[in-house]
Amino acid sequence: MAEEILITLSHDISLNPWFYGIVSMILLIEIWLPARQQARLSVGFCQDSLWLLGDLVETILFLKPCISVLYALSNRVGFPIFDSATILPPPIMLVLGFLLSDFLIWFGHILRHHIPAFWYFHAVHHSQTELNLLSGLRFHIVDKAIAYIIVALPMIALGISAPSIILFKVLQKWYLRIYHANLKLNYGWLKHIMITPQSHRIHHSIEPQHRDRNFGSILIIWDYLFGTQYCQYDEYPATGIDDPNFPLESSRQPHDLLINFIHQNLYPFQQLSKFSINHDRFTGWFKNLFVIQPQK
Ligand SMILES: [Zn+2]
Ligand SMILES: [Zn+2]
Repeated sequence: MAEEILITLSHDISLNPWFYGIVSMILLIEIWLPARQQARLSVGFCQDSLWLLGDLVETILFLKPCISVLYALSNRVGFPIFDSATILPPPIMLVLGFLLSDFLIWFGHILRHHIPAFWYFHAVHHSQTELNLLSGLRFHIVDKAIAYIIVALPMIALGISAPSIILFKVLQKWYLRIYHANLKLNYGWLKHIMITPQSHRIHHSIEPQHRDRNFGSILIIWDYLFGTQYCQYDEYPATGIDDPNFPLESSRQPHDLLINFIHQNLYPFQQLSKFSINHDRFTGWFKNLFVIQPQK
C-alpha cells in the first residue's frame, strides 16, 4: 500500500490534485514577492508548459519500467554489496538513506556541470531566463537519466530499499518545484539548512561570480562542507546560459513554442556532434567529452 502511494506521488505532478493547490499558492506569492519583475504569463513560462507536457509523456511511458528495473536490481542477490537493512534499525536507515540520497544528487549535479558530455544536456535546464515554478520541469530526458543513475546505483549497492529510493526522489521532485519559482525568499535562518529560491537562483545566475555555486537539492550542508556555497543571501541575479547558439524561446505562439521545444531537445546532440567533427582522433575526442573541465 505504501509503495502504491509512493508510486502515485512520483507520477507527474500534473496528474496529482495537490499540484494545482500548490501552483495557485506559489503564483499568489510570486505576485506578492517576485524575485525579478517579469510578465505573469512570460514566454519562459509558456515554454516550460511544454516541458511539463513532455515530462508527463515521459512519466506515462517510462515511470513503470524504471520502477521495475529499480526493484529488480535491489532484489537481485549479489548486487547490494552491503546489506545495511539487517544492521541498522529502520529509522536510522531512513535518515542515513536521505542524507546519502541528498549527497549523491549534489555530487551528480557537480558532474553534470563539469563533464562536457553531461553539461550540454544539463544546460537545457539552465537556459531559462525567466525562472518560474514550472522551470523545475525543464530537464532534458538524458540529463534526468544521468542524474537518476548516479543516485540510484550507489544506493542500491549500499542496500537502501527501492521504496526508500522512490520516497527520496519524490521529496526532491516536489521540493524543486518551489525553489525554481520567481520568489524573493531566502527563508531567514532556515537558509543555512535548506536550499531556497534565492540560493537556487544564484545557481542559475548568468553572472560569472556565481558560476559553479550552490549545487544542493534539498540540504545546503554539502555546499558548505565542500566550499561551493555562495554566501550572499540577498542577491537575485538574472539567469540563463552564455551560449548564443541555444534556441531560446522568444514567442508565445503555440507553433513557435513547439518548434522551439524540439530544437531545445536537439541542442545537446548538435553541440556534441561538433566534438566528433573537431576531434577526429578517438582519444582526443573522448578526453574532450568526458574529462572534467570547468563549465563553459
Ligand atoms: Zn545545475
Ligand atoms: Zn534548477
